[in-house]
Amino acid sequence: MKCAPFDYLRAESVDEVVKALSDADGEGKILAGGQSLVPVLALRMARPSVLIDINRIPGLAAIRADHDAVEVGALVRHTRLIEQTEHPMLAEAARWIGHTAIRGRGTTGGSIAHADPAAELPAVALATGATASVAGSSGTRTITAEDLFTGALTTSLADDEVITSMRFPRPERWGFAEFARRHGDFALVTAIVAELDGAVRIALGGVAPVPVRVADAERVLADGGSVRDVAHAAAEQIKPTGDLHGSEPFRRAIAAEMVRRALAMAGID
Ligand SMILES: Cc1cc2nc3c(=O)[nH]c(=O)nc-3n(C[C@H](O)[C@H](O)[C@H](O)COP(=O)(O)OP(=O)(O)OC[C@H]3O[C@@H](n4cnc5c(N)ncnc54)[C@H](O)[C@@H]3O)c2cc1C
Repeated sequence: MKCAPFDYLRAESVDEVVKALSDADGEGKILAGGQSLVPVLALRMARPSVLIDINRIPGLAAIRADHDAVEVGALVRHTRLIEQTEHPMLAEAARWIGHTAIRGRGTTGGSIAHADPAAELPAVALATGATASVAGSSGTRTITAEDLFTGALTTSLADDEVITSMRFPRPERWGFAEFARRHGDFALVTAIVAELDGAVRIALGGVAPVPVRVADAERVLADGGSVRDVAHAAAEQIKPTGDLHGSEPFRRAIAAEMVRRALAMAGID
């Protein structure tokens, strides 16, 4: 199928993006790497009146590290995330995204804004307590990962807002484990363990419409529970739905095993 007709604007600045989005009154779409948007357009699941290309905006592709966190510009491609050494957990997560061509074009801001329930970067954002810097008609604001993801492929971004960067805190210890049917497939389950300020956070992707923190499992761990008990608590807390890729009990079992592996990678046993 071909895309429905749309106007195309190559924006030169974030202000221009915000104005174009505002003028489009909910009918505008940002074009970043195009890896998720273009298939959606081709299937006519979206028919924006205007595509606002942000790829040429200066300053959106920078990675800046300070003592506590790494700030990743919205246009940083997945390949760059793999290459950088400031945030090893982000590098590991990006390695699991799709295939080479997708990693070469797909962007951090695009992956976060697209909010696929099985995508790696939203789960990393939740696990590390990341925040999104956003610009819109009423100015700039910061949104926590908890508040950003509101449903499958849905965020709390307003129609006239653009993500300019993501700030990912650096965990003291971390682990990442993923199960997918084939290399490059979206995850059936991703488990991420991140220790921040001495507290261990555990997040899962692929088991609900949004990434979830398994607070029960975190409590079991904080109370000195065994890895087996922590993994069991995580699997008990989630409510995955079965589909053709895996039944509900299968996903629970995989979630428990991925939590166990992520804890082991973090050196927690
Ligand atoms: C075959 C295939 C396999 C894939 N496998 C995986 C995988 O295993 N794991 C994974 O995580 N992803 C996977 N992806 C998706 C890939 O990671 C995309 O790069 C990503 O989801 C979207 O990033 P993008 O830059 O291409 O965004 P685009 O496709 O350009 O945009 C996606 C959406 O986000 C909006 N948007 C983009 N940038 C911004 C911004 N800065 N602010 C606000 N809104 C914005 C767009 O308007 C659009 O609605 C796969 C894609 C394909 C085609």
